[in-house]
Amino acid sequence: MAKYDKAKTELNYKNGYELLVAIVLSAQCTDKRVNIITVKLFEKYPDIISLSKAKVDDIKQLIDSCSFFNNKANNLLTMATQIKEQYNYSIPKRQKELETLAGVGEKTACVYLIELYDANIMAVDTHVFRVSHRLGLSYAKTVAQTKIELEKKFETDLNKLHQAMVLFGRYICKAVKPDCDRCILVEFCKSKKSFKPS
Ligand code: SF4
Repeated sequence: MAKYDKAKTELNYKNGYELLVAIVLSAQCTDKRVNIITVKLFEKYPDIISLSKAKVDDIKQLIDSCSFFNNKANNLLTMATQIKEQYNYSIPKRQKELETLAGVGEKTACVYLIELYDANIMAVDTHVFRVSHRLGLSYAKTVAQTKIELEKKFETDLNKLHQAMVLFGRYICKAVKPDCDRCILVEFCKSKKSFKPS
């Protein structure tokens, strides 16, 4: 997996604020789409201060090509207001505090901490869930239990494992027609027969 050693998110961002907003927008939406949306969004709202003063309808207009844009716009405004009022405009660094922000659940908080701070935690998204099951690293039925099992099994460098599994799942071990002929982990795969492309 050496080629994935330096794997990072494919979301474009310049600082923690932009990263958090981009991750919130990326729920049920592609990174490619989010990267298009955030160009204009960050031009108009370059930081928490400006976002906290925004009108929700203006945010909606800027992100309306994103899935669930109504909810996401409301959450972004609430999130910015929370950070302004409760954290003096500074995005919290603790997972539990991040999870109190609108639109930020456990997975979003973990992805943020992994990407920005190389936190040694696992975040299980659709790619990590699929890859870990195909490779037999977990047979848990839920995302929460899969996270627990991966954290117990690997213990260290969980951030690198997360980043690698996301990219591996996105481009090689895809949900439909995985590219098994290019897979460097084929000898460890527990499902390669059923997923072998025709
Ligand atoms: S052999 Fe195919 S299904 Fe198995 S891990 Fe590799 S890409 Fe995924």
